Amino acid sequence: MLEKVVIANRGEIALRILRACKELGIKTVAVYSEADRDQKHVFLSDESVCIGPPSSTDSYLNIPAVISAAEVTDAVAIHPGYGFLSENADFAERVEQSGFIFIGPKAETIRIMGDKVSAINAMKSAGIPCVPGSDGPLGDDAKTLFKTAKEIGYPVIIKAAGGGGGRGMRVVHSESNLIKSIQLTRSEAGSAFGNDMVYMEKFLEHPRHIEIQVLADEHGNVIYLGERDCSMQRRHQKVIEEAPAPGITAEIRESIGQKCVEACKRIGYRGAGTFEFLYEDGEFYFIEMNTRVQVEHPVTEMITGVDIVREQLHIAAGKHLQYQQSDIVITGHAIECRINAEDPETFMPSPGVIEHYHPPGGPGIRVDTHVYQGYKVPPYYDSMIGKLIAHSETRELALARLNNALHEIVLDGIKTNIPLHQDLVKDSAFGDGGTDIHYLEKKLGLA
Ligand code: ADP
Repeated sequence: MLEKVVIANRGEIALRILRACKELGIKTVAVYSEADRDQKHVFLSDESVCIGPPSSTDSYLNIPAVISAAEVTDAVAIHPGYGFLSENADFAERVEQSGFIFIGPKAETIRIMGDKVSAINAMKSAGIPCVPGSDGPLGDDAKTLFKTAKEIGYPVIIKAAGGGGGRGMRVVHSESNLIKSIQLTRSEAGSAFGNDMVYMEKFLEHPRHIEIQVLADEHGNVIYLGERDCSMQRRHQKVIEEAPAPGITAEIRESIGQKCVEACKRIGYRGAGTFEFLYEDGEFYFIEMNTRVQVEHPVTEMITGVDIVREQLHIAAGKHLQYQQSDIVITGHAIECRINAEDPETFMPSPGVIEHYHPPGGPGIRVDTHVYQGYKVPPYYDSMIGKLIAHSETRELALARLNNALHEIVLDGIKTNIPLHQDLVKDSAFGDGGTDIHYLEKKLGLA
């Protein structure tokens, strides 16, 4: 097994990785910014290194600082978690060049998947269904652009090849604003992502977001762990996730899951990964692949019993997958609410001290969070402070458990989106299952 791992992240995922390491007897090194000295995983790790001031550019995104932390502590591997440097191919490359194991795919895989145009091309040739769209990046010739859009059929969506986090996208409903929208998206993409390449896709009007979790070792063994439905979104950001996805039969799951496995084998994928699809009228359309652990990995863990972070560590140590496809059995239903430190109505971040905290409990309840009573949520990072997950035999019972837990939890001193979740778990359309990606914004009066 790996001897010592640097956890290059913060918050709940840093704690999640620390727990998995401890179970396997792996020593841990926490790296933290000056604003994060009182993080729970910093107290619990074997060693810790301050890597810079609060701003993430100077700390969690500071590649030399993270690599030096591995050097001074004699660590053997670096786990990037999600966000920050997790999908930075240059980071993965420098980690390996410095003699450490990067807990994730090869740098070249991250590079291909990080550019959505090259990711789509790779997936198309690996037999994965994609959204009808332009053949690669868009040029400047207006005539060709009009022709491409017409062939795809309006509405179309212009997307930045280097986009992420729900940014760098623009929907176009008619020919009259096509050129202007392409120019705008191009210039925004250039300044936001340092890459002004854009492409065009058919805009699907009522899709669901369904994704497939895969695990691949470096010996060519690949399995899929079923799907998750992450359609409850606001501004393309997930709010609630669940597994399995309502209405997806065992046959549909096997068919799309098998395609993802084949694609992983073709591209020589390594580690945990997620194929994200839009799902409309019974068809899957690939949108992107995430080459890291996802925020919503717990729902998959609850229904399969597979510890995804533990598997990441096994794979990084060069071991064979601990499971075969036939070992993966889906049991019950799991739903996760992302708890954010934000105003439930305006969605403005709400940093500050947590004055009272009583976690919920009972059968089937899992709370993944780093917060505790007296903890101060810093203003510098993402507003997610934890995840509440409920698992039960049926979706209905999982929702009932979630509802109990959302009323049981006490988290005072800051504003959170718990009231929004209390409302959503009682929502009748969500209760029926299968709401699309626009449902939440429509309900909130934002779309
Ligand atoms: P990001 O990397 O920014 O998360 P994605 O390509 O994964 O970008 O898309 C994020 C979200 O944007 C999707 O979950 C969906 O809500 C919406 N979206 C993306 N492509 C399309 C499309 N072709 N039609 C409709 N909605 C889309």
